[in-house]
Amino acid sequence: MKTRAFAVLLLILFFCSAGGAQEQRLERRKYLDPKTPVSDDPRRVPVKPGPRGPEGTLVLSGGRIFDGTGGPAREGTLVIERNKIAKILAAGSTDWPKDARVIDVTGKTVLPGLIDLHTHLTYPLTAEEFGVAISESDATLRGAEKLRYFLESGITSVRDVGSQGDVTFRLKEWVNQNRISGPRVFPAGAFITAEGGHSTENTPDELIRMMGATRLASGPDDWRLAVREQFHKGADVIKLGSYFSPEEVKAAVTEAHELGLKVTVDAETFYIQRAVEAGADTIEHPLPRSEETIQLMAKKGVAADPTLIPYQIIFEEWGGYFGSTSRRFTFSKDANLEMLKRLRKAGIKCGVGTDLILHWYRYMPGPYIRELKNFVEAGWSVPEALVAATKTNSEILDMDDRLGTLQPGKLADVLVVNGKPDENLDDLAKVELVIRDGYVAVENGHATLPRHTAVPMKGPEKRP
Ligand SMILES: [Zn+2]
Repeated sequence: MKTRAFAVLLLILFFCSAGGAQEQRLERRKYLDPKTPVSDDPRRVPVKPGPRGPEGTLVLSGGRIFDGTGGPAREGTLVIERNKIAKILAAGSTDWPKDARVIDVTGKTVLPGLIDLHTHLTYPLTAEEFGVAISESDATLRGAEKLRYFLESGITSVRDVGSQGDVTFRLKEWVNQNRISGPRVFPAGAFITAEGGHSTENTPDELIRMMGATRLASGPDDWRLAVREQFHKGADVIKLGSYFSPEEVKAAVTEAHELGLKVTVDAETFYIQRAVEAGADTIEHPLPRSEETIQLMAKKGVAADPTLIPYQIIFEEWGGYFGSTSRRFTFSKDANLEMLKRLRKAGIKCGVGTDLILHWYRYMPGPYIRELKNFVEAGWSVPEALVAATKTNSEILDMDDRLGTLQPGKLADVLVVNGKPDENLDDLAKVELVIRDGYVAVENGHATLPRHTAVPMKGPEKRP
């Protein structure tokens, strides 16, 4: 009896401490006056007040509006002022300023920009090209190219969960300033894992360090330090990978939450249980886990980013997943789909990510559409899959107060497709127009930037 009471006490203490870590993450927000603008990322850094986005009003008139809140598409007109959605007008209304730029989208579908929760923008294009893989210059250019492919596929935000050096932080900044074409970038910085853990197999330590996309950590203090290093560089999220001890993952998750950041974990089998017990916010991939772990995920509100598509490509192109020490289990397309069904059945929030390594981003938008079809095969309706890709993804990203739905006051990240993707997911490939942060970023399917505005020269100095 005494032992049982003690066990119950331990359990209560455990849930209190796990909840406490989450509360610390949210408590940071309590110190922000809602009138003070903050950065449009999960870091919420106070920024100078002032107008953002392009000048003027942009009107998308006469389209079918699928707003991402869960309701059906309806006829209407979207009015954007600078970088925010100002209002949604009923069909037929022309209640916008005379000097507004009006784009006729009659018959087309207007929806929130898509979000990809799992990218690696700097990863090399082939397994052999280590020469350019370690070059930060090449990594930057690869990242810029991938961003354009994603943007032209209708994606307006990516969560990068492991990339080289400072590259993703700089790409984020350049996109924010509208100096290069791309979706918003929410970087994790380096992927934190242990010696011999996932993403280190078959690669010598020296090369791992040279590529700089993986941070090897050992012991709770070093895991904490590794989290602080990513925060220092500008991380919007922390990415951890097994292997880790319970103390290591707990130290890293607690540190991230104290810094105000969410944590996503790439783990398998009992390591998922360990990460969930430590307070992780999201688990990547459809990898094996027990029913007990699934139930604990559901109870603690831990989300999933199941990413079935990279494994489908691996099964189809390589004939199976071999030689990985961190993937020592048998899995298959059917087993992965079954895992997604179990996650749905348990009521776990599931988001959409592609994890396209190597040259696979060149398949876009195919992989993203196929991932949505996986959701449909696992029980989601087509509109529900689109809500997962937009609203749910914004929640997992910790950005649901400003992204993910078409509602007044939200940031203007908008996709226009020539078709009805809420009825036929293949129509998502017919991207016409993408607006990111109020800027027209894709027009007639092509990425576009405003023409440069010449800065007047100062002219010759006046001499007496
Ligand atoms: Zn990945």
